[in-house]
Amino acid sequence: MEPFTVVMRKFANNGVIADPSEIGVRQARRRRFTHPSAAAPPRAHAQPLWLAKPRASIVTRKVPSSDRFDVIVVGAGIGGALMAHSLCGKGLRILTIDRRHPVRGSSAESTAMIQHEIDVPLHRLARTIGHEKASRVWRRSAGAVEELESLIRDLGINCEFQSRHTLFLSGQELGTRALKREAQARQEVGILADYLDRAALLERYGINRSGAINSAISASSNPVQMTTGIFRVARRQGVEVVGGLEVTDVREGGDNVIVATDQGKMIEAAHVIFCSGYEFLECLRNPRHKLMSTWALASKPRLKRPDWLDKYLVWEASDPYLYFRSTSDGRVIVGGEDEKGEAAYLDPTKIEHKTAVLVEKLADLTGISLGKPDFSWSAAFGVTPDGLPMIGTAPGMSRIFVNGIWREWHYVCKNCGRPDIRRGSRPPGRRLGSVSPSVAWNGC
Ligand SMILES: Cc1cc2nc3c(=O)[nH]c(=O)nc-3n(C[C@H](O)[C@H](O)[C@H](O)COP(=O)(O)OP(=O)(O)OC[C@H]3O[C@@H](n4cnc5c(N)ncnc54)[C@H](O)[C@@H]3O)c2cc1C
Repeated sequence: MEPFTVVMRKFANNGVIADPSEIGVRQARRRRFTHPSAAAPPRAHAQPLWLAKPRASIVTRKVPSSDRFDVIVVGAGIGGALMAHSLCGKGLRILTIDRRHPVRGSSAESTAMIQHEIDVPLHRLARTIGHEKASRVWRRSAGAVEELESLIRDLGINCEFQSRHTLFLSGQELGTRALKREAQARQEVGILADYLDRAALLERYGINRSGAINSAISASSNPVQMTTGIFRVARRQGVEVVGGLEVTDVREGGDNVIVATDQGKMIEAAHVIFCSGYEFLECLRNPRHKLMSTWALASKPRLKRPDWLDKYLVWEASDPYLYFRSTSDGRVIVGGEDEKGEAAYLDPTKIEHKTAVLVEKLADLTGISLGKPDFSWSAAFGVTPDGLPMIGTAPGMSRIFVNGIWREWHYVCKNCGRPDIRRGSRPPGRRLGSVSPSVAWNGC
């Protein structure tokens, strides 16, 4: 890596990089991302439902108004929106940058099942990271869903936000005994969870599985309207949002961070926060973070469905798992059929087959006849071995933060994904929290 002083000298040259290849701008475009393709690789194969709805875009600037900010937030998905908004009101000059138009990354592809339940059950996570830490993760996750709900209500954002229950069905990964133990583990840490046996499941939901956990503290939304809504509020509070500008390199030195962009400019900030979803600059990449491909679909509106479904999110203890929910206009959204790797979702031959499998699985489980979906899409998403988000300062740095998440609401988790930045503040000089000892910067 080039010494910071050299980068600074180039910055002094009116912020223009005379020869961009000198600091790796061109190389960065070719290979600094974990994604195999060039800059701004194709995202979802086919358009997700949310982009066909109103209020899917926000007004952005083409170039930043200055070459010096207090905070630069890289990524304008739900993570970047919540991060920028949480920093408002402190007198900070905040710039949010996205290499695409805002909300055209994972947040637009999400089925937006906002659950406090994380993929690794509490009783299993406790075996890996200890009971105390696992309980804290689960409790914070539940608190974060509640906090997100309050935020959306307080900001008056119109995004189909709706509180829900979740049904977590038994499957190949967790049978009756394990589900009972899981329900008990959650109750012991103060998270309500009712175990339902086969008879109760059949009677109340018409689902024939050996057992399930019924829990509250979940929600659903239109993730694009939720994100653009938060950005509109943040913009009114002075946050600058620039679309079509890619960060190709980042260096920290002294009290500053320098960000290089694909427009050949450098921008300086006291802190830089990467909310770039599953896409990382090479220098911020964590080898334990892996990519998967996934598929989702949405039925036509006003589909015939059981009444209870409008109050629930449903998923199962299988790998890969099937999950589904309804929308406010009566569509049923279904997702799953995950595959390892980030290339599978781009294979056009797979989408038809995966869609058919999802439709059939839903019909087998619930009797819902989905017909030909209005929308089918596929995309990549990131996973970690323990299912926990990667949050904290980047290795060896104190002014560069990373929020690599897999669940959107963790951004509003108090003292969790939000660095304590004040005007002129020194960096916290510590990792923002670590749950898993196995991952360098990982936790909540
Ligand atoms: C099909 C599907 C279904 C899903 N369903 C759910 C669900 O039901 N519930 C759930 O919790 N999660 C779900 N997820 C995951 C969820 O979508 C993501 O965890 C979440 O949206 C991530 O938000 P983010 O803001 O971190 O990332 P993103 O929305 O991807 O935003 C990151 C942004 O950073 C930008 N960026 C990246 N690198 C750079 C750079 N170098 N310079 C400038 N900009 C950059 C990108 O262009 C992107 O816009 C799903 C994912 C998929 C694919």
